[in-house]
Amino acid sequence: MCNQMITTENYNTQMTLLPEIEEKEPRKRQLAPTFKPYDNRQILPIFDIEALIPENHVARVVDEMVEAVPDEHLFSHYKGGGRSSFHPKMMLKIILFGYSQKVYSCRRIETLIKESLPAIWLAAGQQPDFRTINEFRGERLKDLMDELFEAMILKLIEDKYITMENYFLDGTKIEADANKYSFVWKKATEKFEAKLREKIQETLQHIHELTQLEAGTEPKEDKQITEVSESDLETVAKEIEEKVEELTEKMENEPDTNTRKEIRKQRGQLKKSLKLIRENFLPRIAKYKEQNEIFGDRNSYSKTDKDATFMRMKEDHMKNGQLKAGYNVQMGTENQFILYYTIHQRPTDTRCFIPHLEKLSSTSLPMPKTVIADAGYGSEENYVYAVGDEKEQKFDFLIPYGSYIQEKTRKYKNDIKNAKNWTYLEQDDYFICPNGRKVPFKKYQNKKNRSGYEQSFKIYECEDCTDCPLKAQCTKAKGNRQVHWNTVFEEMKAKAKTALECEEKATIYARRKIEVESVFGHIKGNRSFRRFSLRGLDKVHIEFGIVALAHNILKVAGIRQLLSEDPEKNIKASGEERLIFLHLLYFRDLSDSPFFCVLHVLKSQVCGYSVFSERQRSHSIKCDSICSFTV
Ligand code: SF4
Repeated sequence: MCNQMITTENYNTQMTLLPEIEEKEPRKRQLAPTFKPYDNRQILPIFDIEALIPENHVARVVDEMVEAVPDEHLFSHYKGGGRSSFHPKMMLKIILFGYSQKVYSCRRIETLIKESLPAIWLAAGQQPDFRTINEFRGERLKDLMDELFEAMILKLIEDKYITMENYFLDGTKIEADANKYSFVWKKATEKFEAKLREKIQETLQHIHELTQLEAGTEPKEDKQITEVSESDLETVAKEIEEKVEELTEKMENEPDTNTRKEIRKQRGQLKKSLKLIRENFLPRIAKYKEQNEIFGDRNSYSKTDKDATFMRMKEDHMKNGQLKAGYNVQMGTENQFILYYTIHQRPTDTRCFIPHLEKLSSTSLPMPKTVIADAGYGSEENYVYAVGDEKEQKFDFLIPYGSYIQEKTRKYKNDIKNAKNWTYLEQDDYFICPNGRKVPFKKYQNKKNRSGYEQSFKIYECEDCTDCPLKAQCTKAKGNRQVHWNTVFEEMKAKAKTALECEEKATIYARRKIEVESVFGHIKGNRSFRRFSLRGLDKVHIEFGIVALAHNILKVAGIRQLLSEDPEKNIKASGEERLIFLHLLYFRDLSDSPFFCVLHVLKSQVCGYSVFSERQRSHSIKCDSICSFTV
């Protein structure tokens, strides 16, 4: 059993040098190297693996969080009888631990539970194979994920890590597990479908002429075949088949050779049309129908993952703006904990706001007091949703609108074409333009946007713009200048502006970039989760849920590690440095100041993170994102 080549004895022995060498260099005293006793073949009994796991290790937080989930939540999704399954808590723990260690593949999780001590402890020495892990992740968690996520967020609220008061909302696009050349475009499908319909009409017209000829009547040129459905085409095909049989019978009974030849020719033409219908038209109609169903209200999808939509990603290594199949992940955070998330197939954030918050309100989680988001969410529809009924406002919001920053510029304030800079007389409901002319109210106009939301505009039109010296600067219209005034949106914008200009609320808004953006930066940049491994909306929802849970667990472990009194070896920070770190935590609201950037560097040294190398790794991530995360 013992390795004869490497023995404890050999290493412990201080060997003397050979006499010849000693003779050559007598003045220099040389000693042989010494080593600690080592024998990897020696039996090393481990009685308690748990004792080997450090106190604030992530595995312990994983264990604690999963154990906090009530058993009935997990067991209710299992049918009774049959062969016993692996315990859902064990499966959940190893998957969460794997994701916390940047291990996103089931084969690598399988390796982890064989090789990593914390994973062996979490799995209690059991070794489910990658298929079992994958089945649990993709299928079992489908029904479980939402309940599980809610249970964990409620535990975080209970432990006072989060309060759900401020909800920092933002979205990011993550690549789907699909080839970037597997696209199907809606416009292309529509074009091909229109061409097919044309060809079908031509063929049916030809068949109609043939059957009339065969019946001995003159073909009517004015016969127009209208839109044909799949079932109509099937009926036509059956009629042709009957006709072909009739002609075959007629041909067999025909004694005259020339007439027989004529019938055969007619039959051949009908057979050709029949083949075209059966082998070309019908399968293509079915294909386009299926494609249109998959599109829904999207403009594209991927053949590999049909739920993925082609979107422009931030990570564009080829720098050619190529669209890639992906999903839009909407996420709310507080203290850099992920509070809730939803997966969307739309690339823009604006139209994800209402579905995201509607889904949040349907859960058992408390609704946030204030929702903080960037200008991408500042639409009339979203503002109206946030305000709710006049008596009961759903939540407070800190969301700027698209032109919020621009409106503050001198150029905007001096621009004569902006009706906002004109004088408005409320009593008589008209504007006075920069040329001193009246712009009175003309009519109301309603417009529907893509999501079906109806916006109401008041249209004002200048009395006479002819010979106006300012016309070139004021409008491009040939006639009189019109002003389209959206009263509701303007009111909402004024409300949003007032809130953002309040000092206390502006401080909360300033936290947005170190809150949600840094979490995205951490997940995509530091934890290298840039692509889903599972396909389909349901499974992608599960996978991001695991990523989010692993992220929250890492945050808890990080905070515990930081606040622990025990001077463990793995805490790099000395007492003084940790003090700086804790102060950084406290003053993170000042993160916009240059002083904070200097502290970032200090902080990065404390936690052993290299700010600059991380920064290089993900170019879309700001300095804040990386540094503020490490806690
Ligand atoms: S173009 Fe018409 S609306 Fe504009 S400044 Fe001249 S008169 Fe007034």
